[in-house]
Formats: sequence, structure tokens, C-alpha cells
Amino acid sequence: MSRPDAEAVVDLDAIAHNTARLQQIATPAALMVVVKADGYGHGMLAVARTARAAGADWLGVALPDEALALRAAGDTGPLLCWLAAPGRGYAPVVDAGIDVTASSPVQLDEIAAGAADTGRPARLHLKIDTGLSRNGCPPRQWPQLVEAAAQLQRAGRVEVVGVWSHLACADEPDHPANDAQEDAFDRALDAVRAAGLHPPLVHLANSPATLTRPSSHRDLVRVGLAAYGLSPVPGIGPPQHFGLRPALTLRARLAAVRQVPAGVGVSYGHTHVTSRPARLGLVPVGYGEGIAVTASNAAQVQVDGRRCPQVGRVCMDQFVVDLGAGAAEPGDEVVLFGPGDHGEPTAQDWATAGGTIVYEVVTRLGGRLHRSYVGGDR
Ligand SMILES: *Cc1c(COP(=O)(O)O)cnc(C)c1O
Repeated sequence: MSRPDAEAVVDLDAIAHNTARLQQIATPAALMVVVKADGYGHGMLAVARTARAAGADWLGVALPDEALALRAAGDTGPLLCWLAAPGRGYAPVVDAGIDVTASSPVQLDEIAAGAADTGRPARLHLKIDTGLSRNGCPPRQWPQLVEAAAQLQRAGRVEVVGVWSHLACADEPDHPANDAQEDAFDRALDAVRAAGLHPPLVHLANSPATLTRPSSHRDLVRVGLAAYGLSPVPGIGPPQHFGLRPALTLRARLAAVRQVPAGVGVSYGHTHVTSRPARLGLVPVGYGEGIAVTASNAAQVQVDGRRCPQVGRVCMDQFVVDLGAGAAEPGDEVVLFGPGDHGEPTAQDWATAGGTIVYEVVTRLGGRLHRSYVGGDR
């Protein structure tokens, strides 16, 4: 089969390696690998299977529909979801043995109604807002939520198995919000125990907290980005600093090569004008595939083992690179980013070039991009 013009190649052996490495870092806490948003652009099902096989105790997703998709694909292990608007209807989720999160008394009522419809108790995690001010139960509502959960547990409608929260500034390990949130979390846990509940799964840490803040590990860590081999704290170190291996390589093939004189405007708006005669290569991937327009004139790619600057505005289907003195021909491989082990740019380089975070660089990949897998037991 001929090579696709543009593809994301996901190394499942890297996912397996990262899973084992993160379990080692988290021990004695259990490891949840977060596979929401199509596995951060890596493919939810393949990542889920690989992470399970490599020893991830738990999988986590944001949406109930993502959790149901995992079940439909045959996943049967511990699985938590945490985000839904009112009116969701929890019966299918409870029936599928998926752990659910309540962030308010109203949401808890909806979950309990779903459990009543299925005739089995919902496995419930209570979420407290300790300072992110996004989701989670506001502290003033917490006693009411905890008391309602205790009552529903006594009635056999729910089983409170977890209490959790989410950190706002874990990627800045010295930020005072981290200590403040852990303190608020401990106070919330006191209230849970005072209500006679003793859930076995207390969890708080995301990737940056897992890597930098052992006090946050508790019973279970929820790791997304680091499982894909990306660093959530690039200021502290690249993935390799933490023993992680980037799993995703984004590559394409040059669609065309042309020679132009000095003084030629390139791509929409002529935001780049050649300063000398140049060989320009055309890369058939653009913002339709999730390449950031904000990376225009700032990112680099690797062609023939050499770094080449991206020039002119990134378009919907394509962008242009300056091939310099290289001998590249149409059809030659262009590596947009990869692990960085062979001189190629990294996803973090594209994040820096585009003025965004590496989470967005990989998660937004899609459109017409082909995805293929290497490694693992496919
Ligand atoms: C996405 C998410 C995570 C994973 O965050 P990373 O920084 O990618 O590890 C953990 N917990 C919650 C609630 C999330 O939404």
C-alpha cells in the first residue's frame, strides 16, 4: 500500500512504556490513564487497549458517551467519567458498570434515578471544587451533597467509591494554589468521613502533579498527557527528563517543490517574502488537519534529516517550507514533529511556535489526517 500523503503515526510501544513508567512513579497509588478527546488525538481505543495491557488499573474519560464507546469496543475494566449536562440519563452508564461523578445534589439525583432504572447501585465518585472554579461541588454545597450521597448509599442506590478534585496550577509546582487546594481537599475529606463514608479511592493528581507533587498522589492518579509521552511541565524538562517517550509522529510527503527568485511573496497575505532565490516545498496538511495558523512563519519541519522553516501563512490544506540548499524532491518525507530523538521538531516546538500548549497541538489533530499504529499487539 502506498504511503498516505499525511499521517499521524502512533507508537503503541511508547504508550505501553509510559504506562509502566507512570505506574512506577505513582506507586503505591493506582494509575488511571485518561483517554478522553480520542486519546488526546492518538486514538482512544488503541490507547485504551494498550494502556490496559501495560497495567493501567483505570481508564478515565470526560463524557459518558466516551465511556460507553469504550464499553462498546469491549473494554470491561474500571472506568470513570466526569462531565455531563443536566438531562443526560445515567441508566445506560450505570448499567455498563461505568463509575460516575456527581458535582452537585441535582446531578446526584439524576444518577440515583438512573440507578433506580437499572436496579443496580451506581458506583459514585463525589467531586469537590477546591479552587479551580470550573466543575466540582462548591464547598458551601458540599455538606448537602455528602449527606445526600450517604442517604442514597444506605438506600442501596449508590455506592460511594471515590472522592476527588482537580488542580488549577499543577503545571506551576511552586504556585501557592497547589497547597491551598490540597488543604481544601483534606477538609472536604474530613466531612466525608464525618458522614460515615469511607470511599477507597481518593484522587487529585493530573499529569503535572503526578510528576512533581507526590503529596497529591493519594489512592489514584489521573494521567493524560504524560501517558502520551509529552511533558506537562516543559519548563522543568522534556518528556525524556521524566523517562517518558513521545508516542506520536506527524509526517507527510512533499506534494511539490519549486524554485523561486528573491522577492517573491509566499502564501495568503504574502506574510513571507523570499530574501534570496529559494527552493520551496509544499506540505499537504493544514489547519483542516489541526495545524495551527498561529504557527505560521514560526514552526520548523525536518526534510532529509535537515530542519527547514515553515514560511508564509498555514492554509486549510497545505503549507510551504523553505528547503534551503537541500536536494528534496516531491514525494520526500517531511516530519512535522516526533519524539525529537533524530533532530526532528517536537510537539512542544509546535506549541511554542503556535503560542499554545502541547495538549492542544496533539488533541486538535484530525480532519483528513490518516492515522496508523506501530508497536503494541495490534
Ligand atoms: C483531562 C483530565 C485529566 C488529565 O490531565 P493531564 O494533565 O492530561 O494529565 C485529569 N483529570 C481530569 C478531571 C481531567 O479533565
